[in-house]
Amino acid sequence: MVRAADAALRLAGYGTGPLVVLIRAEMPPGHRGMSLDNGAALGSEAFSSQAMVNHVLEEELLHVMQKNDAPERWFKPGIARNLEEEVHEQRKFPFPGN
Ligand SMILES: [Zn+2]
Repeated sequence: MVRAADAALRLAGYGTGPLVVLIRAEMPPGHRGMSLDNGAALGSEAFSSQAMVNHVLEEELLHVMQKNDAPERWFKPGIARNLEEEVHEQRKFPFPGN
């Protein structure tokens, strides 16, 4: 599923090179993924459907790109919401409806 998501992202025009490391991880309910410096951790909820994997992988790729572009921003207070809004504006794979 991750490989198909990687292909879907590339087809949508993304370079997925920043996702060097992809791991599965235990996450609390409601948490699907987390960006790492060079990749992403994906929880079991990220795998509920292929559309969901695509959505979560895109989200974390955009976060990794934000970190790469301007690492200093990451530590500013109150920045988390801005980062999320940027991702939301850029995304091509919206949250899949159930
Ligand atoms: Zn996010």
